[in-house]
Amino acid sequence: MTVRFAARVDRVRPSAIRELLRLGEDPEVVSFGGGYPDPALFPVDELRAIFDDLLTPANSRVLQYAGSTGLLRLREQVADRLTADGTACTAEDLLITSGGQQGLDLVAKLVLDPGDTVITEDPTFLGALIAFNPMEPTYAPVRIDGNGMDTEDLERVLADSPRARMIYTVPDFQNPTGVTMSLPRRRRLIELANEHDLLVVEDTPYRSLRFEGDHLPTLRSLDTQGRVVHLGSFSKILAPGFRLGWLLADGEVLQKLSLLKLAGDTQCSTLTMAAASAYLDRYDIDAHIATIVAAYRRKRDLALSVLDERMPAGVRHTAPEGGLFTWLTFPDGVDTAALMQDVLLPQGKVAYVPGATFFPVAGPASHARVNFSGLPDDVLVAGLTRMSELVGAHLSG
Ligand code: PMP
Repeated sequence: MTVRFAARVDRVRPSAIRELLRLGEDPEVVSFGGGYPDPALFPVDELRAIFDDLLTPANSRVLQYAGSTGLLRLREQVADRLTADGTACTAEDLLITSGGQQGLDLVAKLVLDPGDTVITEDPTFLGALIAFNPMEPTYAPVRIDGNGMDTEDLERVLADSPRARMIYTVPDFQNPTGVTMSLPRRRRLIELANEHDLLVVEDTPYRSLRFEGDHLPTLRSLDTQGRVVHLGSFSKILAPGFRLGWLLADGEVLQKLSLLKLAGDTQCSTLTMAAASAYLDRYDIDAHIATIVAAYRRKRDLALSVLDERMPAGVRHTAPEGGLFTWLTFPDGVDTAALMQDVLLPQGKVAYVPGATFFPVAGPASHARVNFSGLPDDVLVAGLTRMSELVGAHLSG
């Protein structure tokens, strides 16, 4: 039969970059392309013990339906953690989501009609664009530099965006650039959102992965008008396979989002929610996070020292204070997708994500995102060394 797809499906298609990344899935390729945590750091033994205990007749309720907002005990635990981090809230303010990704999908469904405008960093998280696209929005990108979203540019963009419905930002260790929004800019962003009466979506999956530097307040904690929807995730601090995250929002917004969640998938898995909750009860997740942070700090240091020593001078990189990524800027005119396809993959069996894919409207082809968290140290160093040497030979040749 011929299926007539809805208009929104026009905006749901694989990109050329995805095809290119598929080449990077060859097991012989060292890929800096993923956003993967290091699987060696997953607390497998602890989780096995927890699942053993949960899967007994006395605990069979963990195989039962639960409410759409998520297990109360887990929401209490998340609320306690957020409150300790300076973002005061209670279990009633929270919805447990299927990762941070579902929070993006739900918020888009809540506020976007076709043709509405989403304000984003330029570049921004590709998964957010993928979540927003079916709602058929337009994008108004805002410049980003070493201090995060440039609020002067935001002011200009807002003046030009009559259909703006939300500002989407990743303030901590942004994906893809690794940069963090400064405190003055956080305050200014909230002021501007207040002036324009806009919803702000604060996406924080990397927030607790800080290697050094000042701990900055969340946008949600600076918001006095209930306009920030704060998204968080267990993916980088526990295990992405759990598909668990949280969404913090006020009153009616939270209620509507919970109804949209109910419509989409009823609830998150009771079993994984119960396991995450048991993990938080029985183990010290902050100690676990400290272990992860130490490992990723070491990997960041290794990655940046190879890039500093081996990359040609014309290739710059960001120096993230946390998170999983650094962002490379090649000399003008370098097309990083072609460089990867023609040189790095065939000659070096190394891959990154070409930067063009992260720009919501259009952007330069001369950037690349490099992940430093997902590979063993020796593979990371050998792969980046190979990449740097090939880039050097290519740029000088
Ligand atoms: N937001 C950002 C900025 C991300 O980089 C990711 C993926 N790593 C997510 C949200 C979604 O992650 P998850 O659904 O696994 O929580």
